[in-house]
Amino acid sequence: RPAIRLMIQRVPFAEDRQMLVSRDITQIEKLETMRRDFIANVSHELRTPLTVVGGFVETVMDGLDDLPREDVLRYLNLALEQSVRMQRLIEDLLALSALETGAPPPREERVSVLDLVRKVHQEAELLSAGRHEVKLLIDERDEGDQLLGSQKELHSAFANLASNAVRYTQPGGTISIGWQHTRKGAEFTVEDNGIGIAPEHISRLTERFFRVDRSRSRETGGTGLGLAIVKHILSRHHGELQIESEAGKGSRFSVVFPANRLRH
Ligand code: ADP
Repeated sequence: RPAIRLMIQRVPFAEDRQMLVSRDITQIEKLETMRRDFIANVSHELRTPLTVVGGFVETVMDGLDDLPREDVLRYLNLALEQSVRMQRLIEDLLALSALETGAPPPREERVSVLDLVRKVHQEAELLSAGRHEVKLLIDERDEGDQLLGSQKELHSAFANLASNAVRYTQPGGTISIGWQHTRKGAEFTVEDNGIGIAPEHISRLTERFFRVDRSRSRETGGTGLGLAIVKHILSRHHGELQIESEAGKGSRFSVVFPANRLRH
């Protein structure tokens, strides 16, 4: 059981009398710790690529007279890669902060689900570049299905899950992206037979900056913020993220929408 932290304050309430007031500051301290951790994380995430950029620029400057042209280009390219990474991180941070400040969702639209799922499938194929089999599991009879919400946000959430499947599945693996009706409503699903996730990590996946394997996430261009963004978007759309996974076998991420969020 977590310890409770109390703050005792002395409050004068009459000429010569004082009262002791105790306040439960457990929650305040927890938030403060989260805020500190977050700042430390962001600083660390930015410092690493910045150090690399600085290093490459310095190398090029030092070797301006005698470095072969190909080497100069290679160093500049590596520096560029790092700057793209920082840009991606900042974009994700801005997206997350906009979602967290509770800004109202963009005007609610009727989003054509199968068009959206096809688009996400196509993008996953592009990202995979032929390294995986990317299947599309839809039923043409659901052609008229619509979801209430923001096209842009739903796309961002679904695309995030699909790109994770590509990034965490070895070449030669299979990824299935689909939409199906269930007893309670309907669900968007992304299934892969990739590296999977050990049970103890599953509940932490949507925490900001949580990654099972930091270096693998980095290598594939991850920021560690994707699922935190997904979680926020889905809660604005009354969608529930369900994760089933087994280490070494693969994962299934599904987003379940209640029937009252659907139109046909
Ligand atoms: P990242 O940018 O690191 O991918 P996410 O928030 O999208 O950040 O995901 C958090 C972590 O969850 C990832 O670093 C990875 O360890 C794990 N993860 C997400 N999707 C999958 C998946 N399909 N298969 C295995 N692990 C996954």
